This record gives sequence, structure tokens and C-alpha cells, in this order.
Amino acid sequence: MDCVFCRIVAGELPAKKVYEDEDFVAFHDIRPKAPVHVLVVPKEHVDRLSDYPDDETGEKKLGALFRTVNRVATKVLGLDGYRVIVNVGEKGGQEIFHVHVHVLGGWR
Ligand code: AMP
Repeated sequence: MDCVFCRIVAGELPAKKVYEDEDFVAFHDIRPKAPVHVLVVPKEHVDRLSDYPDDETGEKKLGALFRTVNRVATKVLGLDGYRVIVNVGEKGGQEIFHVHVHVLGGWR
């Protein structure tokens, strides 16, 4: 398995996890760009956000992903406001090719 986030999902690589359920895991980014910088990651390996199908299955998966982002940001991290970033593809600045959503916040 050469995907870093699959290895974190499998527990083979350490991560500062803040949340986990059947389908998602969330952990602190190792190079934080904000006082709070957490990545929300689906356990299912999908290379990039644009690979989700443009159908009901894709809608369910994207809905579940962003529902989890909101849950982690508000309930787990207690953020009153936050910023979400998704880099999609090399031209979108994506470095790790396993879908993830950046949750940034904690500014005063
Ligand atoms: P992206 O450019 O959207 O693909 O961002 C990948 C993010 O993953 C970067 O912000 C990295 O700092 C972060 N990252 C890379 N490896 C790890 C790791 N082992 N644990 C936590 N965060 C990581």
C-alpha cells in the first residue's frame, strides 16, 4: 500500500486523530497552515474529488463527506467558523492523491 492516507486509515502510520467512524477519519495536518488544521479523509480510497461519479452514488458520498466535515469542525473541534479547502488534481495543488478536505480555523 503506497498511499499515505490509506496507511493512516489502516493504523500503519501514526496520526493525531481527532475523529473516526465507519467511513471517515480526521487527523491534524503535519504542516498546519492555521491554529487548527485538520484533514477529513474518507476511508475508501478515491484519488481525487473529481473522481466521484456524477450520479446518486457520488451525491451520497459527497454529502456524507461534507456532513462529516461540518460535524468534525463544529462538534469535535468546536469551531464557530472555519474555512474548507479541497485541492483537486495536480493543477489544483493536490499533493496526496487520496480525497481529503482541509478544515482550517482557530483564528482570533
Ligand atoms: P494537498 O495539497 O491537499 O494534497 O494536501 C496534503 C496535506 O497533507 C498537506 O497539507 C500535508 O501537510 C498533509 N500531510 C502529508 N502527510 C501527512 C501525514 N502523514 N499526516 C498528516 N498530514 C499529512
